[in-house]
Amino acid sequence: MSVQQNLQQIQANIKQACERSNRDPDEITLIAVTKYVTIERTKEAIEAGVLHLGENRTDEFLKKYKNVDHEAIKWHFIGTLQSRKAREIIHEVDMIHSLDRLSLARQINNRADEPIDCFVQVNVSGEQSKHGLAPEEVMSFVEQLADYEKVRVVGLMTMAPHIDDEQKLREVFRHLASLRDDIKERNFKHAPCEFLSMGMSNDYEIAIEEGATHIRIGSNLVGS
Ligand SMILES: *Cc1c(COP(=O)(O)O)cnc(C)c1O
Repeated sequence: MSVQQNLQQIQANIKQACERSNRDPDEITLIAVTKYVTIERTKEAIEAGVLHLGENRTDEFLKKYKNVDHEAIKWHFIGTLQSRKAREIIHEVDMIHSLDRLSLARQINNRADEPIDCFVQVNVSGEQSKHGLAPEEVMSFVEQLADYEKVRVVGLMTMAPHIDDEQKLREVFRHLASLRDDIKERNFKHAPCEFLSMGMSNDYEIAIEEGATHIRIGSNLVGS
């Protein structure tokens, strides 16, 4: 399938999920996760109209960044980021979805020229294999981020388990949304925390129904 065909299908699904949940499709940012695919395929996505690209490794991120010449593109770093590697992408990245420890916040703070929009990654499901803070750690972590002026907490991110149990997925997404609400309510200057980065190929429609603002789609959009 061409990226264009996949994109049309996904956009139609986004629209329907928004109708079911009384939301405006303009609230949803679709990030094409290009980590599995070539530069050619990435360019095909851009030609089809994708404006947001996501990568999970610094070397691939930079490879795509250098070979894709498109001023309108926004670049998302979605994978585990080693603190010492933050500097490699800090001037290129528009949003980091995987802030999960203070040592990384410190590196971002030391290296960035401007405040960087970051999502705090939460391991809602508690799976051993997943990165991110435990839900009960999130508030105090966000409070501590006030000391890092180049870190701006725009939202929370999670990866749901790879399961088909819709009810379980909803619980994960609702839990993240309620943590987001708790932080937003505090009106932190450094943490407006408006956004929810959740939903992948397998579960993005459910994530949208539960409030996702940023969905990260790889295999269903560009292939795997
Ligand atoms: C790979 C990846 C995705 C995309 O996964 P698909 O299931 O292929 O859509 C989304 N988010 C993160 C953090 C990823 O690593």
